[in-house]
Amino acid sequence: MAGLAAAKTCIAAGKTVTVVEARNRIGGRAWAETTTFGIPYDHGCAWLHSADANPLTAIAKSFGIETVPDSDDTEAWWLYDGAKEASDDDHEAAVAAYELLETRIDEAGDEGLDVAAKKYQPPGKWGELAASLVGPLEAGVDLHDLSTMDVYNQIGTGVEWLVPGGMGNIAARYGLDVKVQLGTRVTGVAWTGTGVKVETTKGAIEAKAAVVTVPTGVLKTLKFTPALPGWKRDAIGNTPMGLLNKISFLFRENVLEADPTTHMSQHRADNRHTGFLLNAFDTNLAIGFIGGDAAWQLERLGPKAMVDFGLSVLKDIGGSEVAKAVTKTHATRWGSDPFALGAYSASKPGHAKERANLAKPVGGRLFFAGEACSPKWATQLPGAWLTGIEAGTAAAAAG
Ligand SMILES: Cc1cc2nc3c(=O)[nH]c(=O)nc-3n(C[C@H](O)[C@H](O)[C@H](O)COP(=O)(O)OP(=O)(O)OC[C@H]3O[C@@H](n4cnc5c(N)ncnc54)[C@H](O)[C@@H]3O)c2cc1C
Repeated sequence: MAGLAAAKTCIAAGKTVTVVEARNRIGGRAWAETTTFGIPYDHGCAWLHSADANPLTAIAKSFGIETVPDSDDTEAWWLYDGAKEASDDDHEAAVAAYELLETRIDEAGDEGLDVAAKKYQPPGKWGELAASLVGPLEAGVDLHDLSTMDVYNQIGTGVEWLVPGGMGNIAARYGLDVKVQLGTRVTGVAWTGTGVKVETTKGAIEAKAAVVTVPTGVLKTLKFTPALPGWKRDAIGNTPMGLLNKISFLFRENVLEADPTTHMSQHRADNRHTGFLLNAFDTNLAIGFIGGDAAWQLERLGPKAMVDFGLSVLKDIGGSEVAKAVTKTHATRWGSDPFALGAYSASKPGHAKERANLAKPVGGRLFFAGEACSPKWATQLPGAWLTGIEAGTAAAAAG
């Protein structure tokens, strides 16, 4: 999305642009398809977070892409402690723990404290669940790796929308009119005072300027000549990729008898707290989420282990019969995807302000964009879009 936005901005400014993409499709971490389940399925982004402030809300609308409000009804939230359905008291305790953690992080932010959010985790099992909702399942990192200031800096209006036909379609539709050279991996970038030379698997490209929009995990592995300055390398190293994976199940019927798009969370004794969107958009699809340290560990064990784990959660809440109604499964593996190396960026505690350095140009010729470069919309598709436009504008002025 950042690359597409930068390209469109440069083209609108009258520049000649070459866009190279390693994959054989556009959209990157914004990707919806219908092949896996026969219905729309987002491998990456799925929510228009803070939809009332999100610049992509209007863009989705202009494309005729349907959006629906996500439920914020905590009473409709299915909550489990292992295989045990939570009591009303548990429900209240879980909501209170979540709100307390958010308030504490907010207060730390008000005081300008950039520390690991772990310090503010409420006690008890519902504190553990709250920690997983704010850390691994939202930010892709556990609270010991979550910067309070990184959370504080991000916009959060509480208005959450979903895209039933696939949020990835926003990027796909947005990029329709951009000519992209697919299957072309960048291996290195040489930069001088007068221009850039981008080495790719399909030859070198020379230009007056380049906009680099790969995720921070990939950015770390790209060879720059001369090397990037220390402040830029520090910013990349201090904004590593977190991980969120989806483990999804299509059922023959609504086997759990869940209302459409029911949120479920499970506290687990093994600390691999998890969540599902059950009967997503009334399609019999259950989309599971696992994030942070547990997600890296599980992904290393392979897709079968991921699916077994997800199914064990669904069996915990619906009984072993649930397995018989599964018709298809899928697990994303964003951590080992060579062109993502994670789901989205997370500032290390104490380093949130370095997102600004990630976005800063180098040598007047190299420009940087992508979700990681946006303090306010970090981790999110709108951050990619906004920083793409900013970097594209600056690159067009330079070239
Ligand atoms: C599981 C998951 C859930 C998410 N949920 C949400 C959500 O609900 N809402 C939200 O707003 N955001 C969400 N996100 C984040 C959102 O998808 C990203 O922030 C956004 O798509 C990032 O866009 P980008 O342009 O910065 O990076 P990318 O989309 O990663 O684009 C970078 C591009 O560079 C390409 N590339 C990489 N290496 C090379 C190379 N060497 N040479 C050439 N090309 C290369 C990649 O293939 C990719 O197309 C989620 C992401 C994941 C993975």
